[in-house]
Amino acid sequence: MEESSRDQNIKSIIRMEDRVGQCCRCLPLIMCTSKPSLGKGDLEPQAFLIFECENYYTRDTNWLIELRNMIKQELNVERVYHTFMVRCHPKACSNRQSYSCIIPGKLLNRDNICKLSNDICDGIPMKPSGEAIINCLTYLLEEMDILSPTYVILFGKKVRDYVLKSCGVFEILETGQAYKYKDMVFLSTVEEKLFNKEELQKLHRIM
Ligand code: SF4
Repeated sequence: MEESSRDQNIKSIIRMEDRVGQCCRCLPLIMCTSKPSLGKGDLEPQAFLIFECENYYTRDTNWLIELRNMIKQELNVERVYHTFMVRCHPKACSNRQSYSCIIPGKLLNRDNICKLSNDICDGIPMKPSGEAIINCLTYLLEEMDILSPTYVILFGKKVRDYVLKSCGVFEILETGQAYKYKDMVFLSTVEEKLFNKEELQKLHRIM
């Protein structure tokens, strides 16, 4: 029996996620990441949302559900998927800084307990470096290629600039503009913390 495209997508995404789970390209990040952030949502998406990295907003399930519902309603799509440009979590950590020598390897277990403090991680989330973005972009491009969405919503300037350039688009695109690329349309918007109904309506107008 022939496999449906959804089944093929599931298999390809699982293979990619296995590689993400074993990835060691950014040693300082994997030390303080209990598990890398993975994409979630419909595996034949019409709208594919890209955030820079996991943060206060994307960890809030209620915020994510509300955002998805707003997008479905305002952009008239049914299938939504979200993912991240960088999967591991950059943090400022006083525990780590107070040790002059640490054996490389994961410091956090899957329950987010730190080996140094023997307590839940209290590192302060930071924005990812350019190096981490470049290291991680290949996974995002692969994910986009597998799922081939209709609309790709780029949250924030950094996401917009890196994703467009990595697709070979060097035109300067401003927030609130659209760009047709292959069978997709990139829609540029503000960072998630500034995103609201008004920004959504702007997206609707440029679709
Ligand atoms: S941030 Fe991305 S590239 Fe870096 S170690 Fe994690 S999965 Fe690998």
